[in-house]
Amino acid sequence: MQKAKGVRDIFGIELNKMERIRSVFLSICKSYNANYIELPLLEPKELFERSVGDSSDIVQKEMFEIKSDNEALVLRPEGTASIVRAMRENLNEIKLPAKLSYYGAMFRKERPQKGRYRQFYQCGIEYIGEAGFGPEIESLLIIKKTLEALGVNQYEIQINYLGNIEERSQYKESLVSYFKENLNSLSEDSQRRLSLNPLRILDSKDEKDIKICQNAPSNEAFLTELTKKSLDSFYNLLTSLDIKVTKNSKLVRGLDYYTGIVFEIIDTSNKLGSQSAIGGGGRYDGLVNDNKISTEGGFGFALGVDRLMLILDDGQKTSSIDLALITTTAEGLIILNNLRDSLVNEYKIDVNYNIESSFKKKFKRADALNAKNVLILGGDEIAGSFFKIKNLTTGIETKFDNVKLNSFSETVKEYLNNQIKEGIND
Ligand code: AMP
Repeated sequence: MQKAKGVRDIFGIELNKMERIRSVFLSICKSYNANYIELPLLEPKELFERSVGDSSDIVQKEMFEIKSDNEALVLRPEGTASIVRAMRENLNEIKLPAKLSYYGAMFRKERPQKGRYRQFYQCGIEYIGEAGFGPEIESLLIIKKTLEALGVNQYEIQINYLGNIEERSQYKESLVSYFKENLNSLSEDSQRRLSLNPLRILDSKDEKDIKICQNAPSNEAFLTELTKKSLDSFYNLLTSLDIKVTKNSKLVRGLDYYTGIVFEIIDTSNKLGSQSAIGGGGRYDGLVNDNKISTEGGFGFALGVDRLMLILDDGQKTSSIDLALITTTAEGLIILNNLRDSLVNEYKIDVNYNIESSFKKKFKRADALNAKNVLILGGDEIAGSFFKIKNLTTGIETKFDNVKLNSFSETVKEYLNNQIKEGIND
């Protein structure tokens, strides 16, 4: 039996990358005072139907449904709806304004390809109960810091402003009447979208639709003077903070709940092929309002961990062992077990707890583990108060005489640090 379509086993170098992304992101979140929340993988199907919206691809065809007694449950396809639900249910304990970070697997029944999986991982932050452009600015700073810390520097931030709840609904009306005039020239998908979510037609990839969209009304006409003024100062502030954005009036994002600012981070290194979005987010004031959580609305973003993994360099083979400790006696094993404890915070150490096998076999195992050095402490060594370390890259064996066998960790550290300084194992 093989694994299901669109999922993968993550281990070795890939797992190192994944753990690096998680720890970099969450430590930056912590420095911005975001509180981590662990959300359930299972949620009621209705949660997403109501929030993400009937017209979205996610609700229409991508949810993995689990039938359990009388409940219709799904494996969560995204994080925002769950956080809004969690807020609604825990308003007594989570104070507003709330800033919640999360990390975890999401599930969508999509056609698997490079950078697109059925089980994938997102990390993000949601700001609940905070109006204005504060969350937008802070989020872009957090994203910038995260990407910088990961060494990802070829990307573009595309941004659009969909309008507040009233502006967006007027804009929607004008789009509907424009698209109705051009109904027969639209693709079948877009004809269907017209009644469900006309804004989605703007990001259609169909040639016919792209042509019609070129002359579609722009939302600028529906923005109030007040909005235009605060938008200007928002964009100016981004420039002052050295956050470069590219305005894209066709960017709408797939979900129904977005209002205000929406954005996407696009990889420009070409490492991702057609799936080049490494993150996205936006404001969802209506969703927070409708759930009677706050009249100040909400804003959030998610980064795609799997796509970041595809961009990151392999880095050092951090899985290789700095020092393998081998012995053939019980007395030696006790000494080496203590030595391990005093080295393990700084180096990757392996102890071979099998004292029965021959030194030859032990060396073979150390080699298979990709060990850089092997420390040998046999019966002769213990009797003569010495030990040896063999470097497996150079083949050089070093003998350390007159050692106190219960306290030689400093000598070993010095040896390993010299190797790092001289780059012997690089
Ligand atoms: P979305 O909110 O759907 O735009 O998702 C945010 C980010 O998650 C995207 O920009 C992608 O980086 C990532 N993502 C979304 N769907 C998938 C998927 N099926 N496989 C891998 N990554 C995904």
